[in-house]
Amino acid sequence: MSRSVTILGATGSVGRSTLDLVARAADRFEVVALTAHRDVAGLAELARRHRPKLAVIGDAGLLGELRAALAGTGIEAAAGEGAIADAAASGAEWTMAAIVGTAGLKPVMRALEGGRTVALANKEALVSAGALMIQAAAASGATLLPVDSEHNAIFQCFDRARPESVRRIILTASGGPFRDWPIEQMRAATPDQAVAHPNWSMGAKISVDSATLMNKGLELIEAHRLFPVGAEAIEIVVHPQSVIHSLVEYVDGSVLAQLGAPDMRVPIAHTLAWPERMETPCQRLDLVAIGALAFEAPDPVRFPALRLARETLAAGGAKPAILNAANEIAVASFLERRLGFLDIASLVGEVLARFDPPAPTSIDAVLEIDGEARRVAAALTGKIHA
Ligand code: NDP
Ligand code: MG
Repeated sequence: MSRSVTILGATGSVGRSTLDLVARAADRFEVVALTAHRDVAGLAELARRHRPKLAVIGDAGLLGELRAALAGTGIEAAAGEGAIADAAASGAEWTMAAIVGTAGLKPVMRALEGGRTVALANKEALVSAGALMIQAAAASGATLLPVDSEHNAIFQCFDRARPESVRRIILTASGGPFRDWPIEQMRAATPDQAVAHPNWSMGAKISVDSATLMNKGLELIEAHRLFPVGAEAIEIVVHPQSVIHSLVEYVDGSVLAQLGAPDMRVPIAHTLAWPERMETPCQRLDLVAIGALAFEAPDPVRFPALRLARETLAAGGAKPAILNAANEIAVASFLERRLGFLDIASLVGEVLARFDPPAPTSIDAVLEIDGEARRVAAALTGKIHA
């Protein structure tokens, strides 16, 4: 029997990797809906290849273009934020949440409320509104499967029936492209240098997050949301080869790890086939060729984003949503060359210090805080740049 799948953020790096796997096991999957933001040509091309019932473009002004690109295919075209959320609620048995940023929050919630399986790549949603998302999943009976390679690794190693037997989670970080750069060189780093990740091929936003280590900060919060482990029991270790994707330590001293080539299709395949397994074309691990694995502690001076994320997690309430929103603005400004690389974390720290609303109790409240934090961040960006 085939499993029906919807892919939110189909034109992105994770979305395309998901469709690559779906196409390789065409008898196991049936595509229901694909969504994108502005990439009409990319979406139409994917739709023609994978034949969903529905293709949705987020930018409402692009509906005519999408319709024209799909003419004669019989694939329904829709547009706008609401249409993306409706596609998320389309009843597919399995939904990939791979929209980048807070833009993915409402669609992810709609998918979770459907009570089916949601493979979650969109870590920003979990950081901003984690408690509400976990509650929604529990209320509907939805299964939430982590796609992020570290959290997928932890998911594979974590004994969910005996959480009290876990002592610690160790999140590995590649260290990004600037792992051994002196701080003065980092100050002058360009978007091209920041986006050129040594191990992983990813979208621009998460690539910059990997360079600042904010990605690992977001992942610290993500791990705390997904697994019943205190923040103090989550350690971050730099492991430049990205072979060990994360580890779980038990009270008896046993440490379980998941290893594999740095290819997102491995964790995506784990969620696509779960609880079964499926073949992937990914490179196999050759331990003898690798020879040795290296580890080091992250440098808190050159990578202050880690401290900001820890403080944010300890403070709780609205702070994670503020951290995430300010970071999205800072990264976008850096990519537009309106902010220096080291200014990203400084700006996030400034916004966190200036803005302290009460804890949100609904998704709308999270989005309000998100919007306000973006306004504060944008205003500060203008000042730093001036
Ligand atoms: P990309 O930038 O490659 O793709 C993002 C996708 O989201 C695209 O389909 C894009 O559409 C869509 N999108 C962007 N903005 C909006 C919006 N406002 N409304 C609706 N759709 C939107 O990102 P990645 O695939 O790299 O990352 C996706 C998510 O997965 C992120 O949250 C990231 O942190 C997470 N992740 C990614 C990993 C990776 O290896 N890439 C690893 C682990 C987690 P369009 O193409 O039209 O702009
Ligand atoms: Mg990751």
